[in-house]
Amino acid sequence: MSEIRVRFAPSPTGYLHVGGARTALYNWLFARRMNGVFILRIEDTDADRSKPELTTAILESMEWLGLNWDEGPFHQSDRLDRYRTLASELERSGHAYPCFCTPEDLQAKRSRVTGGRPWKYDGTCRNMPDEERQMRLAAGVPHVVRFRVPESGETGFEDMVFGLITVENQEIEDFVLLRSDGQPTYHLGVVADDMDMRVTHVVRGADHISNTPKQILVYRASGANLPVFAHLPLILGPDRQRLSKRHGATSVGAYRDQGILPEALVNFLALLGWTPPGGEEILPLEAMSQQFDLAAVSKSNAVFDPEKLAWMNSQYLRALTMDRLVPLVEAELKLSGIESTIIDSHPKFEETVTMLQPRMRTLKDFSQGGRAFFTDAFEYAPDARKKFWKDPAIAGFLQDLAGRLEKLDSFTTEITEATLRGLTEENGIKAGLLINATRVALTGQSVAPGLFDVMKVLGQKRTVERLQRAGKYLRESGANPA
Ligand code: GLU
Repeated sequence: MSEIRVRFAPSPTGYLHVGGARTALYNWLFARRMNGVFILRIEDTDADRSKPELTTAILESMEWLGLNWDEGPFHQSDRLDRYRTLASELERSGHAYPCFCTPEDLQAKRSRVTGGRPWKYDGTCRNMPDEERQMRLAAGVPHVVRFRVPESGETGFEDMVFGLITVENQEIEDFVLLRSDGQPTYHLGVVADDMDMRVTHVVRGADHISNTPKQILVYRASGANLPVFAHLPLILGPDRQRLSKRHGATSVGAYRDQGILPEALVNFLALLGWTPPGGEEILPLEAMSQQFDLAAVSKSNAVFDPEKLAWMNSQYLRALTMDRLVPLVEAELKLSGIESTIIDSHPKFEETVTMLQPRMRTLKDFSQGGRAFFTDAFEYAPDARKKFWKDPAIAGFLQDLAGRLEKLDSFTTEITEATLRGLTEENGIKAGLLINATRVALTGQSVAPGLFDVMKVLGQKRTVERLQRAGKYLRESGANPA
């Protein structure tokens, strides 16, 4: 088989959303698996809605995901002459014609249709006598160029995912190829580019299925070979409606900002429509690219489950080496405006990150639940306060513990634990009561790594200060009088 060539062709009218990212990923995986070529093309012919900064953002998201491209990025806006030439060729060969109907004419006709049926261009200019057509063209009457769809027969294709799809030509309207301002439509641009870029497989979202017969007609009229089409199942939200902003974050950048790792997002997206032959859930990009099979993609809609993504992320987070994790945590703290005031040395930072790593689901957790490990400016989580500081005697115990810990000459986990337990035994209270209360005092949270490890990481001075601060807080807030 000759070289496989695929492309990802986003329009820079928005950020890269998860559906687009999955399309990019499947193209990338297929290209890598088949030793083919992955082309990136920016479909920016809609001058009003396309923005260069969105192109930049899309490219950044692709890079962040690790989806490198072999050719491009090509910009359709650089190729306008090519589209106009193709439209003229199609006119010359009789496959297209100028249409002089104004938008007002068309709107008036459309509004006359009743019964909710979609309106289809009625062919007013299709059969215009050639003489009249030439006269209007010579007079410079504004016009679009429409494709002349055959009146009978059908247009079909064998989709690699959805199987045979056929449409009666009668149902296809004479669609526009070139607008009156000379801008190509999507149909014209996409076919010209896929022909010129020798694309062998068009892999894109199922929302494009209805566009495919039109594009096939253009290929045929241009005398070009058809690529293979593979449409990818829709992505739905947990409520089974099409995934949209209503469901929360949809852009790749938003997931990055939530502390999701690119390798986790890529793994998660890959499984929205494809299952590896071995059924693995956790499968890094490299391994996926050796197993991916476009023909094995399912046509059933895929459901985007944010909980599963969070779980997957925690799996990847746990597996990160310190070389990779430490800079990510540093960046996250910076992003959240946390100046790491309490960690003065690199080994200490690494020790803290290592301790937190198994408990974190996202990078964000380091700056949220894990905040107290990096700065003294943290608050007591209301749920933790309510749950573990209920007992009115807590303030006194925390202060007593502070006093005992302050006097220690050595601050190992064994000694701090013995100190805490000594206090609870003397007072006839359960160790758990004071352990939980102390945890809230030291971390602001109801769950944290082992308490005596936390003390060790914080150090004697800071542990004592925090216990005193909590005792004072409890007495002053009056919520818990001793
Ligand atoms: N620019 C189109 C889109 O973003 C590309 C569709 C295609 O791949 O043909 O949906």
